[in-house]
Amino acid sequence: MKITHLSAECYPVAKVGGLADVVGALPKYQNDAGFTAEVIMPFYDNKFTQSEEFSVIFKSKLNLGKQEFPFEIKTWNHSNIGFNLYLVDVPELLFKDYVYSMDDTDRFLAFQIAALNWMLTWDEKPTTVHIHDHHTGLIPFMMTQCSDYAALKNIPTVLTIHNAQYQGWFSHSKVGLIPEFNFANVGLIDWFGNINPLASAIKCAWKVTTVSPSYMEELKKAANGLEGLLSAESAKCVGILNGIDWGVWNPETDAYLVENYSINTVEKGREVNKKWLCSRYNLNFEKPLFAFIGRLVGEKGADLFPKTFEKALQNENISIFLLGSGNDVVEAQLIALKKDFEGTYNAFIGYDEKLAHIVYAGADFILMPSRVEPCGLNQMYALRYGSIPIVRSIGGLKDTVTDISEKGGFGICHEEVTVSAITEAIERGEKLFENQEKYQKIRKKIMGINHSWDASALAYINLYKSLNQ
Ligand code: ADP
Repeated sequence: MKITHLSAECYPVAKVGGLADVVGALPKYQNDAGFTAEVIMPFYDNKFTQSEEFSVIFKSKLNLGKQEFPFEIKTWNHSNIGFNLYLVDVPELLFKDYVYSMDDTDRFLAFQIAALNWMLTWDEKPTTVHIHDHHTGLIPFMMTQCSDYAALKNIPTVLTIHNAQYQGWFSHSKVGLIPEFNFANVGLIDWFGNINPLASAIKCAWKVTTVSPSYMEELKKAANGLEGLLSAESAKCVGILNGIDWGVWNPETDAYLVENYSINTVEKGREVNKKWLCSRYNLNFEKPLFAFIGRLVGEKGADLFPKTFEKALQNENISIFLLGSGNDVVEAQLIALKKDFEGTYNAFIGYDEKLAHIVYAGADFILMPSRVEPCGLNQMYALRYGSIPIVRSIGGLKDTVTDISEKGGFGICHEEVTVSAITEAIERGEKLFENQEKYQKIRKKIMGINHSWDASALAYINLYKSLNQ
């Protein structure tokens, strides 16, 4: 069985959020389980592509409407990531110093067309094509409806929705950019008057998955306009919880950490990481440290952070640290807050992979007051690193974190996304931290919870098998 994943992001080549982590890990586990899984992604102009060596294995041209663009398929020469990785280089469109921007429509259309043009030349076609989010959402349509790709028509396709908020809409005035198809079937790409790649993928893919079971149920009620479609297609929809890359996210071997540790050495190990964090960001090591890592967007509850932190930090016995970026207004407010709470609050506005790893290993609690959380990886990294998650019970957070008030519970959960609900959850965290015996016991327990990809990778394999019988 040969599974070909197509995605806009893949760790470690290009990462904006969880999509990269998933696409960088799932194929590795599928290969380990004895199947052949590979990834096709765009070739961006970033630190990774500048510093690594690549070989060109295929050259051709693609058409976006009447315009012709040369493209190359490259492989990474020293790949040791556990799967074959292929990068689509369309110099004029994809080779940019960003992943997403205003020109996504043309760029990702070019990516999809180039990938399919290349796939047509393969002797061994994929057993299943697995696409991820709207950036690759027109592939099932093109495979089944465009005459150019008739040879790929019968290959099963699976769509995984990592985030349904973003759908890649564009105007029908650009329909000419899509390779020729029978216009009577234009409804398969349309959703309420626009071309909607995510909606099209839901309609045309053989199976649709979401990254957690709860998110699938939630999307039937709120999916940024796609609720009805998901309900109508529910027979082919299933939620499969993401795993985490057990090899990359391992406090015993993580090269980013100041000190590595295991369950047995967690106290000492986490102390060293917390001390480094606190000394670098002028925070008091003795106080419980609550941290947030992520995109500063409404889905993560980020607009509430300035007011919430201001309220929570009236209590001088706690510290808060934030690592994130994404909204100019919120960023400015979070920076302004620094002068009012020197010594108990700090923020790094930007993206820093190493710092993120140290925060999981050094903070006592990880905050995730999300309004929407398809799966959420941070809480699973927090668990593995022994940092207690404080989460809003939604989506994947609901599926992975149980409140300490329940039997066997190990996290702090809240129902609402309000300044007071988040502050109260932080207060509960502070109380738990005061009871060091209980806190340490929970910490050891959560480090033993296994969220590796093993089980979920097999769930996907079983799904592919059901399509290839
Ligand atoms: P989403 O995909 O919605 O952004 P996830 O929880 O699924 O959220 O995944 C977020 C991933 O991105 C995690 O690996 C997290 O550590 C990482 N991340 C997010 N923001 C930052 C940042 N500013 N610096 C470093 N890592 C970040």
